[in-house]
Amino acid sequence: MTAVRFELTRKRMKSIRLRVVPPHGVVKVSAPHGVPLHFIEAFVADKADWVCQQQARIEQLPPPLEIDEAACRAILTTRVPALIAYWQTQLGVVCTGWRVRKMKTRWGSCNIKTGRINLNLVLGALDDALLEYVVVHELVHLHERYHNKRFYTWVEKMLPDWREREAKLESITL
Ligand SMILES: [Zn+2]
Repeated sequence: MTAVRFELTRKRMKSIRLRVVPPHGVVKVSAPHGVPLHFIEAFVADKADWVCQQQARIEQLPPPLEIDEAACRAILTTRVPALIAYWQTQLGVVCTGWRVRKMKTRWGSCNIKTGRINLNLVLGALDDALLEYVVVHELVHLHERYHNKRFYTWVEKMLPDWREREAKLESITL
């Protein structure tokens, strides 16, 4: 059996901890100060199958997008005003403002009280169709707060291919 290579950190802790870290699947072990190295090596060897599984899983993950922040902001500043102007007329809503934000979990958000929307900076690196979908989605929230039937009836009416666009967004790792 080949030994599993790992990076060891000694810490004030009670038990050994083993992690397989994306994006390269490096094995990181933290162990209490007193535990002898041969014991740690045996611990890791014992988990070799699990480590391989985790590394295989990590290899399947799409790589995180690398973006040029300034370029994304510039692109959004150029494109978003026209999109909002067009789609708010189509929808019959009034968007009072918009902002670019760095968000880790969502593509956009809408404050229905103030009529303002936030757009994820990463949208500046994606296809126009995806940016357009997020703008329309957030503007539809000015009609309907929740993702209910009424909400999707609006979305469907505005962008009949919205499902495709949403699926593409969901396949992107933020
Ligand atoms: Zn929404």
